Amino acid sequence: MKTVGLIGGMSWESTLTYYKIINEMVKKKLGGLHSGQIILYSVDFEEIEKYQRNDEWDKSAQRLSEIALKLQMAGADFIVICTNTMHKVADRIAEKISIPIVHIAEAMAELLLDNNIKKVALLGTKYTMTEDFYKDKLLARGIDILVPSMVDIDIVNEIIYNELCLGIISEKSRKEYQRIIMELENLGAQGVILGCTEIGLLIKPEHSPIPVFDTTKIHADKAVLMLLDEVVH
Ligand code: GLU
Repeated sequence: MKTVGLIGGMSWESTLTYYKIINEMVKKKLGGLHSGQIILYSVDFEEIEKYQRNDEWDKSAQRLSEIALKLQMAGADFIVICTNTMHKVADRIAEKISIPIVHIAEAMAELLLDNNIKKVALLGTKYTMTEDFYKDKLLARGIDILVPSMVDIDIVNEIIYNELCLGIISEKSRKEYQRIIMELENLGAQGVILGCTEIGLLIKPEHSPIPVFDTTKIHADKAVLMLLDEVVH
């Protein structure tokens, strides 16, 4: 088995999910006492979030590059950055290491194409929903993206940072997300990307009228294929 280097802690609430899914999938595939070979570097999210808020992406790129290099030196065969938002600096991290990064949006694009999804709603942080670094990966594969209105982008974003990243799951917020998903369905979305690794803690498939594509699950599944050398794409 290969070894995955996880850059986690953004937030740790969703890193737990990565850790669990990877181990469960490996056990399911190999049986017995098998579990994932994982090296986890979990950051202090307060530091990274401050860089985001202050538009200091150079600093976060540098910090995460140092961590990726440490994981490489510790024996990781590839890197998984356990957040959508920080893929904004994925290319800059990749420049500093010689092992591959499993890109979260590329894993998503492959799965959407496999499911014949051509128009999809995207929920995530305001960075993921309004900037190009994530959406470009989907657009390049011919997938159209719908994002919420500016008012709703703020609502989705606030719930991520003020609730989900702190482990707070509220029925009121779930209703807000459901309303927003329904509005995007009315605009033609065939499915919804849970494009922030904590949203899956709030929205499960049964909460959505359209198919849900959870980045955490899809990213962790891809990591397992890489661990076991089963990557087809
Ligand atoms: N985990 C979230 C994401 O997938 C948000 C936290 C962050 O800003 O990294 O985008």
